[in-house]
Amino acid sequence: MKKLKIDLHNHTTLCNHAEGSVDEYVRAAIAAGIDVFGFSDHAPMDFDPKYRMKFDEMQLYRAMVAEAREAYRQQIEILFGYEVDYLEGHMDPRVLEADVDYLIGSVHFIGDWGFDNPEFIGRYEHEDIDVIWQRYFDEVEKMARSGHFDIAGHLDLIKVFKYLPKNDIVTIASGALDAIADAGMALEINVAGYRKPVAEAYPSPALLKAAFKRGIPVTFGSDAHTPEQVGLFRREAEALAESAGYRECVYFRNREMIPVPIG
Ligand code: ZN
Ligand code: FE
Ligand code: FE
Ligand code: ZN
Repeated sequence: MKKLKIDLHNHTTLCNHAEGSVDEYVRAAIAAGIDVFGFSDHAPMDFDPKYRMKFDEMQLYRAMVAEAREAYRQQIEILFGYEVDYLEGHMDPRVLEADVDYLIGSVHFIGDWGFDNPEFIGRYEHEDIDVIWQRYFDEVEKMARSGHFDIAGHLDLIKVFKYLPKNDIVTIASGALDAIADAGMALEINVAGYRKPVAEAYPSPALLKAAFKRGIPVTFGSDAHTPEQVGLFRREAEALAESAGYRECVYFRNREMIPVPIG
């Protein structure tokens, strides 16, 4: 089987906090040697609407990606997905039942606290870090058990500002990892963490090894919010996968998982 470079987590300006045209993202991906490039912009939601597309932009988003898919089909395969917030009471069938290649399930909220938003970083000082880590991974577990998603997004995002727990991280995450394995989902190696205070990929090496032991497949994501971020830290991500034991990664076409050797 041919080795492929996969990159399934990338945004567009529709989310209001990214820059660059779809064309620029795709050309950056081609320049970085990516073979399969997926857009997974923040899906619309009636909560936190500022940081995502609107429901009435879903057709435009589909059209933008479809146009690029056609225009670049000789050079790169382009896939269509969403990064969907797992947030109880705010998930919408228009998103969950959309015709996509894949859905990434991400937890960005504990209750109504957007814990990865630097605007609200002050709250960490008032929280028991072990408690919020467990609450975060309980949400990830529910996300996986919901059955709506193909890929678990940035598994340990709660480490973003480097507030680390005293308890063992693999133990805290074990319910979530079991649920991801039971759901037959993939886990992404997301390099956005390198651009954040924690300065490492999601997930950490220990969590990735625990995922490998459970037979959870991996995929890769730049989580690019600018064209310049496409393909950054690629070598680090591949080395991380290999040191955890992985030789294969996966991507999704029409919600079907396709394994390939890591490229
Ligand atoms: Zn974003
Ligand atoms: Fe995210
Ligand atoms: Fe993202
Ligand atoms: Zn993300």
